[in-house]
Amino acid sequence: MNDTIFDVILAGGGVMGCATAYYLMQADPAMRVAIVEKDPSYRYNSTVLSDGNTRLQFNLKENILISKYGLERLATFSDDMAVGDWRPEVDFRRQGNLFLTDEEHRASAQAGLALQESLDCRVGWLEPDEVKRRFPLLDERKFAGGVFGELDGTMDPQAVLMAFRRKAVDLGAAFIEAEVAEILHARGKTQGVRLADGTTLTAGYVVNSAGAWGTQLARTAGIELPVDPVMRQVFVLQTAAEPRESYPLIAFPSGLYLIQEHGGRFMCGKSFEDDPVGFDFTVNQAKFMEFLWPELVEYVPAFDRLKVTGGWAGLYAVNRFDGNAILGEWPGLEGFLLANGFSGHGFQQCHAVGRYLAETIRGVEPFLDLSLFSPARIVNNAPVFEGRGKLV
Ligand SMILES: Cc1cc2nc3c(=O)[nH]c(=O)nc-3n(C[C@H](O)[C@H](O)[C@H](O)COP(=O)(O)OP(=O)(O)OC[C@H]3O[C@@H](n4cnc5c(N)ncnc54)[C@H](O)[C@@H]3O)c2cc1C
Repeated sequence: MNDTIFDVILAGGGVMGCATAYYLMQADPAMRVAIVEKDPSYRYNSTVLSDGNTRLQFNLKENILISKYGLERLATFSDDMAVGDWRPEVDFRRQGNLFLTDEEHRASAQAGLALQESLDCRVGWLEPDEVKRRFPLLDERKFAGGVFGELDGTMDPQAVLMAFRRKAVDLGAAFIEAEVAEILHARGKTQGVRLADGTTLTAGYVVNSAGAWGTQLARTAGIELPVDPVMRQVFVLQTAAEPRESYPLIAFPSGLYLIQEHGGRFMCGKSFEDDPVGFDFTVNQAKFMEFLWPELVEYVPAFDRLKVTGGWAGLYAVNRFDGNAILGEWPGLEGFLLANGFSGHGFQQCHAVGRYLAETIRGVEPFLDLSLFSPARIVNNAPVFEGRGKLV
């Protein structure tokens, strides 16, 4: 085989690129698939810097079904991804997700709940006193109730990424350490990529799986995506509280969220309108002190004594158009597929997105109709909103 000719090139070897490569190779081991990743140390990769949470609490049926599929795959993930004697452990903790709501948003939260219940998501409404009974650290006077999803949980995102990567390579995909400098195309058809060192890789299909760098990459093909790299911070806290209970991921009405690691150790974060746009990874602890801590203490009074023991900054690929994934072939450029704009909820979507893109490329009926997220909606100015959804 000429090693510069492929059927499919995944431009970006994060969880989307590696999951797509896996689903391609699994379905058709004869396929020539290359994952091209500029930084295999994954220092700034969003998957590795994510919280690794998955939830069924969405308001769009398709987003719910995507996460349901991810949970289904998780049940057999270690076996499915085994390579020889090696079995990945993703450490899935099903602690549940609790989305608290204020009076103003109570009705829309309950409407979302009805859809989730109809799709068998095992979610339920909790009145404030019930929340207090189960999670006594919370001040129940500060919210109007909440939706608890018992199937939701958090896992090690790096383990998921490495499992897809290792399995895809074991099945025959090539993993190439290089930066894709340009998408090559002619007469409306994709031809491959040019790497930063000048090498050309030929392929009829190129997937833009470059995460928060995806807008830059699409631009090399003359395509302008409404997606910005936006810095999001996570703070690690050692609190003086010593809860005996296990806490779910808690999302407060403002979008502030809290994840218990164990005992009094928690992680928290929040998206702000003025979060820096660009490739900035500098942790700004002042933001925690000034905004997050006072708000946390309001909801969890026992958190008035804590230490910030760590933290990091990563990038959301924020889709400014409608906040949802952009999936599939770009209209006008045959063979150029997008897996972009996941807006902070992409990790949990990797299983469904990988399979969907692989099936799209192979020309078979997709297992799940995700055409709602087609890039054509951008060209046609037909946004698809989640509604009130708080993005975690
Ligand atoms: C702080 C934080 C918390 C999050 N929490 C959650 C969560 O709890 N649940 C959830 O579902 N999602 C979460 N997310 C979002 C999630 O991380 C992303 O949606 C998802 O990981 C995106 O995967 P990806 O493969 O598209 O991007 P990435 O994982 O970033 O992979 C893209 C890869 O492409 C490579 N690349 C870029 N340009 C090029 C190029 N030109 N050539 C070659 N390689 C290139 C990059 O080096 C990178 O490794 C969070 C994100 C952050 C930042």
